[in-house]
Amino acid sequence: MHTFSENSTSIYIHWPFCLQKCPYCAYNSYPIRDLIDVDKWKRAYLMCLNRAAQQASGRVLTSIYFGGGTPSLLPAVFVGDILDEIQKLWTLDSNCEISIEMNPGYVTEKVIASFSTAGINRVSIGVQSLTNEGLAVLGRTHTVQDALSVVKTCSKYFKNHSIDLMYAWPTQSIEDLKKELVDIFALDCPHISIYQLIIEPDSVFGSMYSRGEILMPDENTCTDMFDYLQEATDKAGLPSYEVANHAHSGLECRHSISYWKYIDYIGIGPGAHSRLTINRQKYAMVQESNPQKWLNSIIDNQHILEEVTALSLEEQCRETILVGLRMTEGMDVTRLPLPFSSVVDQKAYERLLHEKYLVKNGDVLATTIEGRRRLNALISYLVK
Ligand code: SF4
Repeated sequence: MHTFSENSTSIYIHWPFCLQKCPYCAYNSYPIRDLIDVDKWKRAYLMCLNRAAQQASGRVLTSIYFGGGTPSLLPAVFVGDILDEIQKLWTLDSNCEISIEMNPGYVTEKVIASFSTAGINRVSIGVQSLTNEGLAVLGRTHTVQDALSVVKTCSKYFKNHSIDLMYAWPTQSIEDLKKELVDIFALDCPHISIYQLIIEPDSVFGSMYSRGEILMPDENTCTDMFDYLQEATDKAGLPSYEVANHAHSGLECRHSISYWKYIDYIGIGPGAHSRLTINRQKYAMVQESNPQKWLNSIIDNQHILEEVTALSLEEQCRETILVGLRMTEGMDVTRLPLPFSSVVDQKAYERLLHEKYLVKNGDVLATTIEGRRRLNALISYLVK
């Protein structure tokens, strides 16, 4: 598994636009309505990066991630220019992971090759489902054939590539999932992220669900699906290293791991979040989420609209536990800025250990499969 040092930091570049909004999505993403002035946007990202470099100089970057939205709609030269600027401003770790999210509907081999030339060394492909029924339910515009062909092409250019999938979508049964997994494993991807579809109130599915227009798999089916996924991915040589992430050994996503280990990160773009330690104080920062306001404030007023909060030690402990227990390997409780016993409910903690939702090995506390199955409830119960 990847290691990090005191001054390790990662960068997330958020591109907010997609061609259309998916019905399950509540991210800060917007369908493209007008022509985008790409040069203006690039200038804004470069200015933000320069400001971040003043706040966080001397860091060693362990990963850079272009997410969104659909950043694969960006010209590769845009991505390359951002990467050049980052390399002028910071030192990159020799194994720096540089990823981009890719929508299989809108990329050609030429585009994939151009991202590789621009410096990208990992892609995360938004396959979502390998069945046409699943893609239709999820409102995706690509086909299974598009996904298969993009995965194949990406495997030619990137040893390190991942596919994003969803399960427990409306109408999906456990038998459907089992069949789909056979096709997924046949792709031989070194990394898969597979998320349970959760109805977000602010999404189109959220409104449809409240009107009774979609039927979700029941809780028992979701639990059976989760359990089956753990078993099947293990057998396929893709063990879980986090609740929803599975990889061949050594190809776990370094960028995500840095979040779960609560390493500093810099988020750039509309609605992007950062966690940055400056003069020993950890700050939570979130940039203006409205793309036009974000852009105008930077270009017209040379000002980055951002909410900045100094995190108390208790808040830092809560956040560290919240992300750390997502990982199969668990977390070292001695890394918390306050004693572990002062931030958890002692009775709840003992019960969770006794009932085998948690396991403690020396200083390392981890969730068991039972614990990860009910992670959100477990954390609310555990942390004061
Ligand atoms: S899921 Fe991805 S492509 Fe779909 S709307 Fe959200 S950000 Fe855009």
